[in-house]
Amino acid sequence: MVIRGRIRREKDHGDIVGQKGIPQDPGSEKSNETWEWTQSELGVEWDTDEDGNINVIPYGGHNTVRTIHPAIGHGSAITVPLTEKVTEMGVPIGTGRMVTKFFRDETGRMVGVQVNEKAKGNDPTTGNPVYIKANKGVVLASGGFGKDVAWRAQHDPHLDETVDCTNQDGATAEALAAAMKAGALAVHLDWIQLGPWCSPDETGYGKGPSYIDANVAYGMSIDPQTGKRIVSELADRRVYSNAIVENGVPLLQIVDEQNIPKWNYEANLQPAIDAGITKKFDTIEDVIAEYSLPDEFRAQLERYNTYVENRNDEEFGKMIPEDAKPLGDGPYYITRIWPKVHHTMGGVKTNMDAQVLDVDLNPIPGFFAAGEATGGVHGACRLGSCATADCLVNGRLAGQMAAQSE
Ligand SMILES: Cc1cc2nc3c(=O)[nH]c(=O)nc-3n(C[C@H](O)[C@H](O)[C@H](O)COP(=O)(O)OP(=O)(O)OC[C@H]3O[C@@H](n4cnc5c(N)ncnc54)[C@H](O)[C@@H]3O)c2cc1C
Repeated sequence: MVIRGRIRREKDHGDIVGQKGIPQDPGSEKSNETWEWTQSELGVEWDTDEDGNINVIPYGGHNTVRTIHPAIGHGSAITVPLTEKVTEMGVPIGTGRMVTKFFRDETGRMVGVQVNEKAKGNDPTTGNPVYIKANKGVVLASGGFGKDVAWRAQHDPHLDETVDCTNQDGATAEALAAAMKAGALAVHLDWIQLGPWCSPDETGYGKGPSYIDANVAYGMSIDPQTGKRIVSELADRRVYSNAIVENGVPLLQIVDEQNIPKWNYEANLQPAIDAGITKKFDTIEDVIAEYSLPDEFRAQLERYNTYVENRNDEEFGKMIPEDAKPLGDGPYYITRIWPKVHHTMGGVKTNMDAQVLDVDLNPIPGFFAAGEATGGVHGACRLGSCATADCLVNGRLAGQMAAQSE
């Protein structure tokens, strides 16, 4: 299977209607418009080639090459100008406040929230309560709950405190719990994603994943005990993570310098090397000696290089990018990988107008939600790079709907 390095437009799916007539694919047609908006309104610069064409990269789980990334390689390219824009528009941003309760009036309309000021950590029983009245509506955008060990382990007991997480400390569930207490329907709470490309040699997200995630298509990962691959390196995160955990030991992600795009080298590889997460070796012999790799590794490397040359992975069916080259003379870059909790697919159920639904599947008037706080948008396993599209498309929609809400 060969990946052509160009954007293929997805088919117009129209309204995909699911259970009880609820459209299941909110905002799927607005991605391009939103991408253009990030440039015209926020001035976001996306990575291009020398001729100014947008660079697209292969990403785990996708069936075609379609992932784009900011020129600086980080999401702050979007969040910083967004914050500046909001500030410029005179919208106050309150920090250090925890939403702990939602209020509905006698008609069921969402009319305000309680926030606790100076709460301790993520404990909703602490802090001074302050009440905020909603003039038009309330938008829930509290993100996922990957860092809330008690909550996530209730829904998937495998994911207790022994499993690390890539999220920031505020990725907890108290706002979601408050929304549920106010009558919101929550779905898919046990669909919790692990990122397979994390490093067991650092805590949290750290420095390794940004580099590895964007480079999995171009190298191979092997079990150091057997010297063999165990899965397609471009499998979706669920398949890849399950394969690693079932196999039982961190894999070695192996790539040589010629297979690392310049942008990823500068933005992400160097920081991973500086942090000691990724190690550089001049030759493959040095790699074999360092990790005491068995003889089978040489045979695996030869097979893998044949797959790259033929654009046909006979072992795991990985899509080989057109610009991938057989692993050559070096230098080589090696990173150990082991999964960590990364994304929570579950949250409040919304409809195509970003309205939060109640347990009878009726919209709660004046209540909207977007981003990782919602559930049902991504199915069982979010594809890498689709969260940003979800957050921006549905975040804009939720804001527009709230502004029009009476
Ligand atoms: C390390 C990392 C890298 C990622 N890289 C990519 C990528 O390359 N591409 C991609 O598409 N996706 C990526 N994702 C996923 C994507 O970034 C997230 O899904 C997305 O940022 C979620 O945005 P959000 O606005 O819904 O929530 P967030 O950005 O998480 O914002 C929610 C905010 O609400 C605050 N909050 C929570 N509870 C309360 C409360 N009770 N009261 C007040 N405030 C509260 C949180 O502290 C947080 O500040 C990545 C995720 C991580 C963790």
